[in-house]
Amino acid sequence: MPEAYSVLFTASEADPFIKVGGLGDVAGSLPKAILNLETGTRAIDIRLVIPYYTGIKLPENRVQHLADFSVPYKREMLPVQVFSTVLDGLTVYLVSSEWIKASAKVYDLDLEHSARKYLLFSKATAMLPEVLDWKVDILHANDWHTALSIPFIQAFSRKPPKTVLSIHNLPFMGSETRGMLQDFHLHPSTDTRLPDWGRELPLPMASSAADQVLTVSPTYAREIMTPQFGCDLDPFFLSIQDKVAGILNGIDLKVWNPAADDLLPSVFDLQNRQQRIKNKQYLQEKFNLDRNDDLPLLVVVSRFDRQKGIDLVFESLKQLSWKPWQAILLGSGDPALETSSQALARAMPGRVHVENRYDCALSHQLYAGGDILLMPSRYEPCGLAQMIGMRYGCIPLARATGGLKDSILSYEVDPLAATGFLFNDATSEALSLALKDALDIYGQKDAWLRIQENGMKADFSWDKSALQYVNLYERLVKSL
Ligand code: ADP
Repeated sequence: MPEAYSVLFTASEADPFIKVGGLGDVAGSLPKAILNLETGTRAIDIRLVIPYYTGIKLPENRVQHLADFSVPYKREMLPVQVFSTVLDGLTVYLVSSEWIKASAKVYDLDLEHSARKYLLFSKATAMLPEVLDWKVDILHANDWHTALSIPFIQAFSRKPPKTVLSIHNLPFMGSETRGMLQDFHLHPSTDTRLPDWGRELPLPMASSAADQVLTVSPTYAREIMTPQFGCDLDPFFLSIQDKVAGILNGIDLKVWNPAADDLLPSVFDLQNRQQRIKNKQYLQEKFNLDRNDDLPLLVVVSRFDRQKGIDLVFESLKQLSWKPWQAILLGSGDPALETSSQALARAMPGRVHVENRYDCALSHQLYAGGDILLMPSRYEPCGLAQMIGMRYGCIPLARATGGLKDSILSYEVDPLAATGFLFNDATSEALSLALKDALDIYGQKDAWLRIQENGMKADFSWDKSALQYVNLYERLVKSL
């Protein structure tokens, strides 16, 4: 019998239960990929725990009530309930409490409530192995919302598990929890390598306490050790560099499969790529754009946030208005960026169309019908959209940062093996220059089809990354 070990994976969101962004994609697919991996020697009992938000709708017969327990808070005991369900063989725990039930959304606008909710969830997560009488060998937390489960479990376990913290977005460190730790009987970190302000924030505290710190791409792991990306923690990350590494995210190839995607007007694969054009025609008609198969269609599928460089896209499109192209921008977020996007669409009717909302179906259609996916991110811990774009034949043009650098091979570097285009500076001029070059290459059909084919063939499955996680877990388990 192979020896088994257990992993408790905790996150604030997980697809298909509830998803806001890339973290939901990761927490929804990585534990399943690890569970299904043929590892040879040891069996892995990995289970997921997420908050039981009211937005998670599960049929009653699929949810089992497992236990009630209490979380110490100030001088009170807060009642908590834990439920379980099974998703494609993966056991998922759902933790409920008054505070979790009180928020309809995943991330509340009321930051104080959000902070208390995730502190409670992190503490409940740390108590879960004892409540369920389940021996956990590794606790794997993600981002600030669940980071404190690491110091919590270390504070009250006689033999704590090994711990892993994944950082998906460093600037969000959980500053809204400031001044609340004492209420949950947790002391600030005493690690003198941390700046004073970081000793009581979830992400820095957990980075100090964890046995392993991960980022979601190797380049981002290096970047957080520099002043440009380190959010003032770069000297700290440098001091702990031996336990910092990056593993690139994957995408769920069942969800993102152009050959069997119900949301597309026309499915296609590499062998019958000519069917792709029907998706472009559908978009041109739907959004009243000039109908012309040969016009390059530029697309954006993104949160509208300064991080994503959306403002650079607006400027570049103006700078390159003399070139033939059309564009569809899908995204919402920063109201100022939404307003600017609408102004751009008004200024360029028939050429630029904007949809300021979250629309899953339209996102699939844009990847399938677009020619170039614009991702000029100022920083990008991993990024999934570029991988989806490549799989759907929509060639990414992105800034050479974080996971974009790790997943796209630029035309400039290797025209024969290229999967997209990369540029360096976070300026509209640099973006325009790169876009102009890409538009020129769009006119050279053979070169274009080769880039597209390379991208469609690239392997972004979770299997590769899951294996790296398993190797890491095994190393940690050996040192238990
Ligand atoms: P982040 O997690 O920083 O938002 P990623 O590129 O890692 O960025 O993941 C974004 C995910 O959300 C992708 O699956 C992308 O298709 C999706 N997405 C982003 N904006 C929208 C939108 N407006 N409508 C539909 N899907 C979107």
